[in-house]
Amino acid sequence: MERGDRLDIDDGRALFASPDLLGVGWMADQVRQRRHGRRATFVFNRQINPTNICVLSCKFCDYATKEGKANAYVLSEKDILDRLSPDLREVHIVGGLYSKWSFDDYLNVLRVIRKAYPQIQLKAYTAVEIDFFARKEKTPIRAILQRLKDEGLVCLPGGGAEIFSERVRKALFPFKIGWAKWSEVHRTAHELGIRSNATMLYGHIETIDERLDHMMKLRDLQDKTGGFLSFIPLAFQPGQTGIVERQTSSIDDLKTIAVSRLLLDNFDHIKSYWVTVGEETCSMALRFGADDVDGTILEERIMHAAKAQTPVGMARDRLVRIIREAGCIPVERDALYEVVKVFGVEPETVLTGTV
Ligand code: SF4
Repeated sequence: MERGDRLDIDDGRALFASPDLLGVGWMADQVRQRRHGRRATFVFNRQINPTNICVLSCKFCDYATKEGKANAYVLSEKDILDRLSPDLREVHIVGGLYSKWSFDDYLNVLRVIRKAYPQIQLKAYTAVEIDFFARKEKTPIRAILQRLKDEGLVCLPGGGAEIFSERVRKALFPFKIGWAKWSEVHRTAHELGIRSNATMLYGHIETIDERLDHMMKLRDLQDKTGGFLSFIPLAFQPGQTGIVERQTSSIDDLKTIAVSRLLLDNFDHIKSYWVTVGEETCSMALRFGADDVDGTILEERIMHAAKAQTPVGMARDRLVRIIREAGCIPVERDALYEVVKVFGVEPETVLTGTV
């Protein structure tokens, strides 16, 4: 690392195998500080999950259900607008693949929000949903993305990536898209000027090599397009799935963050998603390579359907506190990582106004 060489998959193996967690974290923190100093970002956002009815039944998913089940829901336009307020910077929209909705119904979610709150940035629909729309409409992915962009979409969330291992895909989500289609959607989005994010679901049946392969595939694509904003390792929530007995340890979470910071040298941002790792590990991760904690979210349904122990949302002040506890400078950002406000290290200090 000090030589400035690019790390390879063998380096990744050695980092994961190292018993020196603090040493690995220190190296990742050096890289993080070179890029971002002590700044750590968050966004004042809201998650909207329009429906939990899904044509698929992925084994690891406790969120999705079928039409007619007691827990099935579809949000109306009013339900969606009731969840929003003008001070939000971003709405993050993801949900089930609902066969009764046309692509226009999904577009309408963006339309309704944009009409009521034109200032709120729209981050919507995973590659899995985009592929679903394309197949349902018998329309190329590029045209689907263009129509979403025309309705105000600014970036894609990173979900649906899970882990890019065919072995795991066949075992846990055989009917869901794999790397080929996921990367096609993101590559096409980048060509159209739509930025995107990339997740990795870890802590189920994947191996360390499969995690590393996932990261290297993303690094290669980022070399080609430069369109990814952030990488987001997501700790698997076992819930009622029966796939594993317990969630990953904080040690594994911190090491995964650190290795991703070291390997993904062409990603600007590594996110520690407080919803899946909890507030304490999230705060620590800011000294292990992460520079972003996601957002206020306000109503997260997907991870909480799998019994995530974290709150369903978090006030801005609490996110600021998590960042300060790590000795970092809280920075409020928008969906595209543009700075909105820089807070001081001390409570109640705002160093710059809204920009
Ligand atoms: S993970 Fe996504 S695609 Fe799979 S069942 Fe759940 S909502 Fe549907």
